[in-house]
Amino acid sequence: MQRRDFLKKAGVVAASASFSPLMFANAQAATYKFGMVTSWPTSLDTIYGGALNTAKFLSDITDGDVQVEVFPAGAQVGGLEVYDAVSSGAFEMGHTASYYYVGKDPAQAFFTALPFGLNAQEQNAWLYSGGGQAMWDELNAADNLIAFAAGNTGVQMGGWFNKEINTVADLQGLTMRIPGLGGQVMSKAGANVQVIPGGEIYLALERGAIDATEWVGPYDDEILGFNKVAKYYYAPGWHEPGPTLGTYVNLDVYNSLPGDIQSAIQQASKGANMQMLADYDAKNGPALQRIIDAGGVELRTFPTEVLSALEGYANTLYAEYADSSPMFAKFWPEWVKFRDEIRGWHRISEQAYLNYSIPQ
Ligand code: CA
Repeated sequence: MQRRDFLKKAGVVAASASFSPLMFANAQAATYKFGMVTSWPTSLDTIYGGALNTAKFLSDITDGDVQVEVFPAGAQVGGLEVYDAVSSGAFEMGHTASYYYVGKDPAQAFFTALPFGLNAQEQNAWLYSGGGQAMWDELNAADNLIAFAAGNTGVQMGGWFNKEINTVADLQGLTMRIPGLGGQVMSKAGANVQVIPGGEIYLALERGAIDATEWVGPYDDEILGFNKVAKYYYAPGWHEPGPTLGTYVNLDVYNSLPGDIQSAIQQASKGANMQMLADYDAKNGPALQRIIDAGGVELRTFPTEVLSALEGYANTLYAEYADSSPMFAKFWPEWVKFRDEIRGWHRISEQAYLNYSIPQ
């Protein structure tokens, strides 16, 4: 009966706020049909799978009451236009990464990944149980959005290099494809940062137009074949230690939904969040072994001195962000408090165990 009340309300909203005609039509069909635009090509099957899983779980949980049509990047809007497309109500839902939108507000970075920030487990703890979701809600509400974690790659790889990185000086003049905040940090370290689309990286590396590139991790990197055109595979992905991807919903649409459907969206997103992390963790091990077995690539870790220097540049960047963004300045101390508390715990729990179970 609550459902029926909603249907009347949705009709009014659709007529008055010019939402997608889809919503008006489906109100009469007694089913919610939403369009979900995403930032992902279908070739990134695990990440795109986060969007597909959100849609599938949402349909399963609601016994088909909610149907979501998922669109890859470019099918309806460009990969970096998802935020605006859902904010405006052109599409009811989206699946993207908040840090693509740091140009709108640097505070967007917290909800995907900060270089040298939280890993996947810590990111989930912060969002679900540490106050992060309330901060994300505050930031998103200003753009008529609400979002929920719906995917995580786990810690990424540092990238593919054709030059050895032994000291901080080796970063100077290094030409590297590394977008986002990691790119800004590398730029401060003196690197020549390039931002080129995924499909063009292989040729750029092969021809020497770039010395290095980051992508995701063994499973996705193997698909693009970087092991055939780079000598060194560096860990860890300090720039993306546990990036969260999100299911976005237009806030007017979300607020017009009955509580059970709102909860279903949250739980479907949570299911997709866990599934993607599990998928990556299960796929990356065998992929890494295949890359090693194929030969021609040396697995390396960045020297501590290099990581420390990069973290220093990252902290400089965060001080600049706090100066330019009131929201970043507001979230930063709370985030730092959470980070330090959970690291105090993980030092003696996760780290103590892994130090023994995975010997050097
Ligand atoms: Ca990456």
